[in-house]
Amino acid sequence: MIADQLHSIQSQLPEGVTLVAVSKFHPVSAILEAYAAGQRIFAESRPQELAAKVEEIGSLEGLQWHFIGHLQTNKLKQVLPYVDLVQSVDSVHLLDAIEKWAAAADRKIHVLLEMHIALEESKQGFYEEEILEILLRATGDGAWPHIVFRGLMGMATNTDDEEQIRADFTRIRSFMDYLKEDLFPEWEQFDTLSIGMSGDFPLAVECGSTMVRVGSAIFGERVY
Ligand SMILES: *Cc1c(COP(=O)(O)O)cnc(C)c1O
Repeated sequence: MIADQLHSIQSQLPEGVTLVAVSKFHPVSAILEAYAAGQRIFAESRPQELAAKVEEIGSLEGLQWHFIGHLQTNKLKQVLPYVDLVQSVDSVHLLDAIEKWAAAADRKIHVLLEMHIALEESKQGFYEEEILEILLRATGDGAWPHIVFRGLMGMATNTDDEEQIRADFTRIRSFMDYLKEDLFPEWEQFDTLSIGMSGDFPLAVECGSTMVRVGSAIFGERVY
């Protein structure tokens, strides 16, 4: 069943769009089932749950973890040793803390900056001006030398209104294009636009997503 859902989603994704399987609240057995069906990238949103699952599963060939939840600076050591990408960087304070950890560990940490595109004020993320400021500091002043900025992540408004979701996705896509084409054309590493979840990934792909984060459409409803 997990294998069928995975293959069905995969078949809807054009080449160049990476499928990240969001396994939060789902058991290790479900992750292993997806892995056996060929899925390699998984994402979690809670530090303790991530660390526990990584410890239990151990290293499997090609297996990668992403972090997609709100990350508190006192939880870095439960997350950073294990992940290939932190998709949810939402404050300069967090960037500073990641830089400090990465420098001490002599590692580079790959991140996406979470951009606030939803109508809900409660959602996390930076506004355009803040992202611009961060990237100018990183490129111009060499700030955060142990952080590799890979792109942007966004979550659309939680609504059934397709036009609103399309507007949210188009906004982040246009900003990404502006950053890549006008400001940092030489910056090849800045290549990832993570938009699209179970309910809206086909729309996100239409709007130029390069990475979709799909949970319930693969694993079923989450049990809280
Ligand atoms: C939970 C979550 C997802 C996956 O949500 P589904 O609707 O189950 O696909 C994607 N992105 C983030 C940031 C999440 O927290």
